[in-house]
Amino acid sequence: MSSNQYDLLIIGAGVSGSALLYLCTRYTNIKSIAVIEKYAAPARVNSLSSNNSQTLHCGDIETNYTLQKALKVQRAARMLRNYAVAQPDAHHIIFRYPKMVLGVGEKECQLLIQRFEVFSPYYPNLKLLDKKAIARIEPNVCIDGNRFRDDEIIALGSTDEYTAVNFEALSRSFVRQAQITAARHPDKIVDIHYNSNVEHIKIVNGSFLVETQNACYRAATLVACAGGHSLKLAHDLGYGHHYSVLPIAGSYYFTPHVLNGKVYTVQNDALPFAAIHGDPDVLVPGETRFGPTALVLPILERYNYRTLPDFFRVFRFDRRVAKVLWDLLRVKDIRRYMFKNLLFEIPLIRKWLFLKDVRKIIPSLKFGDLRFAHKVGGIRPQLIDKNRCELLMGEAKINTGSGSIFNMTPSPGGTSCLENAEIDMRTIAAYIGAVIDEEQLQQDLLVDDHMHSTDDFSGVVISGDDAA
Ligand SMILES: Cc1cc2nc3c(=O)[nH]c(=O)nc-3n(C[C@H](O)[C@H](O)[C@H](O)COP(=O)(O)OP(=O)(O)OC[C@H]3O[C@@H](n4cnc5c(N)ncnc54)[C@H](O)[C@@H]3O)c2cc1C
Repeated sequence: MSSNQYDLLIIGAGVSGSALLYLCTRYTNIKSIAVIEKYAAPARVNSLSSNNSQTLHCGDIETNYTLQKALKVQRAARMLRNYAVAQPDAHHIIFRYPKMVLGVGEKECQLLIQRFEVFSPYYPNLKLLDKKAIARIEPNVCIDGNRFRDDEIIALGSTDEYTAVNFEALSRSFVRQAQITAARHPDKIVDIHYNSNVEHIKIVNGSFLVETQNACYRAATLVACAGGHSLKLAHDLGYGHHYSVLPIAGSYYFTPHVLNGKVYTVQNDALPFAAIHGDPDVLVPGETRFGPTALVLPILERYNYRTLPDFFRVFRFDRRVAKVLWDLLRVKDIRRYMFKNLLFEIPLIRKWLFLKDVRKIIPSLKFGDLRFAHKVGGIRPQLIDKNRCELLMGEAKINTGSGSIFNMTPSPGGTSCLENAEIDMRTIAAYIGAVIDEEQLQQDLLVDDHMHSTDDFSGVVISGDDAA
């Protein structure tokens, strides 16, 4: 029986919140857990299948990741894979495609050769592919007209791995499995409150009082997995005031089927955002999707302009935010990149401009092949650290040390959902004295984990005093 009072309350049923729900229900003895979600179903925002790139990031072909970051992401990806392949509907959740990162020109090719030497001991399936080997996997990358392209190319990639995830289907699976587990244990309560928008949180007599538009919930512990909205909720409780959110929208373009798998391009080190890639959309057979672009937009949810006031509440523009933005704009490459991404949104010219970038991957692609993907692509809530005057990349977590955690999850937040949730589960369990079934967790999700460490959060953790 639900009583609006819980041991753990999770805000947001995207892939982060639903992964935490699943882990805490399945592997701890926490008795009562609720999820509050403002929409009518899980994963309607960034975890929606059409709003992200659907990539299971393993770290090998992401040239913006160092080896250290890559190995952390690899662990997170393995946890996700171990969960997904064991599900009865695995074929709706996780997918095998070839994947590669393509180097074009001497400099990029040299970089990939060096990367292969460093990374291949940790990634046994990774192969260095020359033009002919690339052509066997992705003929359209190598052929320009009826002959091989002239420029020097090389790729790093693998052909038989899980590389794509429908994060929306994964979120639904987590919720379903949590409910099934709770149904088998009459002493456990799992409540999911949809269509409930958390408007305000306060602390009363040591518990969290969470108010939605038509109900009030009390909880001993609270984890916000609400994307950019998490920072607003943290501010409500007096935490994270020295953080601001810079929302970076990503758009995509569709073409007819030209790629069999994922083809990433080499990252420009001067840019804070990943270079575009092309790949199949797991829900749109017969087409290839290219993107994402990177456009600063003053909203927290894509195509939802009612989140404009929410943006201004968390943006908190001041001298320090201005400095971070100014420092970004001072770099010529970033300035040009941001301007170009703005143009990518303007009908008529955007296709011409985007075509130029896509031809790095598919040289023979024609103007008429490109179609802007309307209502596709979400928003990455990048944090600005006002104290350090820097833009933070990757996920960020505010652990207040007093029973509440706030997660902000740009890419690769989908891949890291279970690893992030593991960290939060351990924090919450320690706080309320709950027990974790380590043996089962190890057996199910961490079988190939040789460096089992809970310090493996790959993003930024702000904890204790620093959180305020
Ligand atoms: C363009 C793009 C490409 C990406 N590509 C990849 C990729 O290839 N691989 C990868 O691993 N990651 C990728 N990501 C990142 C990934 O999509 C996100 O990290 C992940 O979906 C975040 O999940 P989440 O549950 O934290 O947030 P969300 O999925 O955004 O869920 C947040 C939930 O909180 C709810 N909520 C918000 N406020 C409230 C409130 N006040 N009350 C109640 N509920 C609330 C929302 O309705 C929503 O359901 C990409 C992101 C973008 C934008």
